[in-house]
Amino acid sequence: MSTFRAIRIDKAETGIVAAFVDFDEADLMEGDVDVRISHSTVNYKDGLNITGKAPIARRFPMIPGIDFAGVVERSASPAFKPGDQVLLTGYGVGESHLGGFAQKARVKSEWLAPLPPGLSPAQAMAIGTAGFTAMLAVLALERFGLSPQAGPCLVTGAAGGVGSVAVALLKKAGWRVIASTGRPQEAAYLKSLGADEIIDRAELSAPGKPLGKPRWAAAVEAVGSHTLANALAQTQPHGAVAACGNAQGLDLPTTVAPFILRGVALLGVDSVQCPMPLRLSAWRRLDQDLDRAALSAVTSHIPFDRTLDVARDIVAGKVRGRVVVDIAP
Ligand code: NDP
Repeated sequence: MSTFRAIRIDKAETGIVAAFVDFDEADLMEGDVDVRISHSTVNYKDGLNITGKAPIARRFPMIPGIDFAGVVERSASPAFKPGDQVLLTGYGVGESHLGGFAQKARVKSEWLAPLPPGLSPAQAMAIGTAGFTAMLAVLALERFGLSPQAGPCLVTGAAGGVGSVAVALLKKAGWRVIASTGRPQEAAYLKSLGADEIIDRAELSAPGKPLGKPRWAAAVEAVGSHTLANALAQTQPHGAVAACGNAQGLDLPTTVAPFILRGVALLGVDSVQCPMPLRLSAWRRLDQDLDRAALSAVTSHIPFDRTLDVARDIVAGKVRGRVVVDIAP
């Protein structure tokens, strides 16, 4: 019997139970490529999955971990060969297919992307699902036709993973960035990433008016609920909000006023089923544009052993930026 180290979650009568186990290779799910994982990351969704705070896993047992980077060990696909460096985000990995908090994964080749040439596996995971999502949000605003000349861009949940990378990317693209955070102690961190102005998230998180004074041309919105409603209500005419998260809630208590009276657009961002051509262009752009000093400033590293603790911390809103899990010993 061949085994590898992994986190396994099971559903018990008391709720979700997560623990480190020696996972039997024979229990891996179907896939044409085996990857020796070197790095993964802790995303908000992983925190929800491991704590059981929201129903993320759709089969049990599950190995959580919605993204990973590593090296191909075995491939039955002409697209990859042993030794290739690859990364994976989304596609239900860690939710419906065994995921990245493990030394090994067996996945479908069409879910894998080659590691971008300028990024190490650790840097790719410092970006991870959250940073990739931030890039998709910025690309959505650009595709809509917005540029820094239109006015400032709001980033909500700014000290979190999506928010931190969004601030750095927007700054690099020339935007004036307004960062909304509930952690005033992170103001210096956010300014070092490129935030021009910091606002208290309490300004946006309570029920607001259908329309407010226009304050920004665009927004990367990672929080949902009243925050998204207020971001829309304070977007200037013909601006847009890229909605990518639900840290405050899944609800959207808004009215049609921003849409029909100001022509504001609400752009959806989904990293999980994002089509491969868009994925590859987002990774190319991250490779080209993401300042490596900023990336390193938003990143902390933990050994695999600490993953369960950090998963609990991210749900409690205590994690700053991005956390890379060093899986390989
Ligand atoms: P983080 O936990 O790193 O960041 C979330 C941030 O949101 C926190 O740091 C905090 O920022 C803010 N926040 C947390 N709770 C609240 C609250 N109750 N009210 C207002 N603000 C709050 O998570 P990620 O950056 O990894 O993910 C952010 C969101 O994006 C999550 O909802 C996640 O599920 C979603 N997501 C969506 C993806 C997609 O495909 N659409 C992909 C990846 C993530 P601060 O301390 O600065 O206030």
